[in-house]
Amino acid sequence: MLNKGCTEEDLFSFLSRKKQEDLDHAFILSSMCTPPHPVAVRAHNLFMETNLGDPGLFPGTASLEKLLIERFGTLFHHKEAGGYATSGGTESNLQALRLAKVLKHVKNPNAVVPESAHFSFKKACDILCIEQRCVPLDKDWRMDTALAAEQIDKNTICLVGVAGTTEYGMVDPIADLSRIALQQDVFLHVDAAFGGMVVPFLPRKLPFDFALPGVTTIAVDPHKMGMSTIPAGCLLTREPDMLSALNIDTPYLSVKQEFTLAGTRPGAPIAGALAVLDYLGVEGMKAVVSGCMKNTERLIAGMETFGIPRAATPDVNVATFNCTKVPERWKVSWTRQCHLRIVCMPHVHRDQIEAFLRDIGDLNA
Ligand code: PLP
Repeated sequence: MLNKGCTEEDLFSFLSRKKQEDLDHAFILSSMCTPPHPVAVRAHNLFMETNLGDPGLFPGTASLEKLLIERFGTLFHHKEAGGYATSGGTESNLQALRLAKVLKHVKNPNAVVPESAHFSFKKACDILCIEQRCVPLDKDWRMDTALAAEQIDKNTICLVGVAGTTEYGMVDPIADLSRIALQQDVFLHVDAAFGGMVVPFLPRKLPFDFALPGVTTIAVDPHKMGMSTIPAGCLLTREPDMLSALNIDTPYLSVKQEFTLAGTRPGAPIAGALAVLDYLGVEGMKAVVSGCMKNTERLIAGMETFGIPRAATPDVNVATFNCTKVPERWKVSWTRQCHLRIVCMPHVHRDQIEAFLRDIGDLNA
C-alpha cells in the first residue's frame, strides 16, 4: 500500500491505462458474458452499496431479489419456485449439489453428470466429497440418457442435465432425464446457466424447466445472456422453501439464519438483472435471442462455404467448427475436442461476423 495517497487524477489515469490493456469486446468471440445493457448499469449504480448478506438492512433490495426469483419462476413455468441470487453458475451448481446431499442423506453420495458438464461440477464434487460420474454424449453432443440411467445406483443423489452446454451449445434431453429422475427417485438439477436466458425465447420449444415434473433445481445466469452486470446468477428450487435445509445460524445479523454460500452479497447486479428483464420483457428478449441465433446460423453457413464444416448443429448461440487456424486479431476458444468455438453473444454483431468471415476467407485463399 502507498504510504501517502496519490491524487485522484493520477489514480484515474493509472486505472484508465490498465483498462486500455483489456481486450476490445469487438474482437471477443469466446466469452459467455457480454457488456451489460445500459439499464443494468444504471440500476447497478443505484444499488452500488447494498449488501444482501444482511437483508434486514436493505429490505427494498431484498424485495428485488424476491421479484427476480419470481420472474424466473414464471418464465420457467413455476411461479411458486424458491431460490436466491448467486454469484453465477459455479455457485448455483455447487449449492444445488449441496442441497441434494443434505436432503438425500446418503453415506457415499454420487452425482451423475454429462461429459459436457461445466467444470464447476468438478469443483462442487471436490468440495462436497461427492463422486462425480461422467456420462458419455451421443453423436449430437447431448447426454446419452440410456447410459445415464445405467450409472444411477442407490448412492446417487442427483442427476444433472445441461440446457445450453458451454462447449457445443446443446440442450440435453431433459424430458427423458426427468422421467429417469422420477423413476429412480433422485434429484434432477438443470444447469441452464447459459441456456436459461435463450431457450425460453426460441421459436422451437425445447423442454428443460419446471414444466417437467422431475426437475428439482435450475441454475440460470443473468450475467450471461441476461446482459446484467457481473456477478449475477440464480438458483431456483421447485419447492419454495427447499433451501431452508441449508440454513445455518447467523448471530449479529438482521436475520437469524441464512442458506446462501456467500456472506456479503452485492444487491447491485440483482437490480441490474431485474432491470433488463423488466425493460426488455419477453418480446425484447426474443429479439435479442433471435439476433444471436441468426448470427450463429450466418457464421455456420459462411464457414461452410470455405469448406470448414460445423462440429455440431447447436440448440443455442454457440458455433463450433473443424478448423485449426484463425486470424490472430480474433479472440476465439477451443473445445476439449480441439474444435474452434465461437459464442455469438449480443455484442457480436453481424458486421463482426462478416469481418471474421472475410479474414477466414483471406487465410484460406
Ligand atoms: N454452467 C454453464 C453451462 C456455463 O457455461 C458456465 C460458464 O460458462 C457455468 C456453469 C459457470 O458459470 P460462472 O462462470 O458464472 O460461475
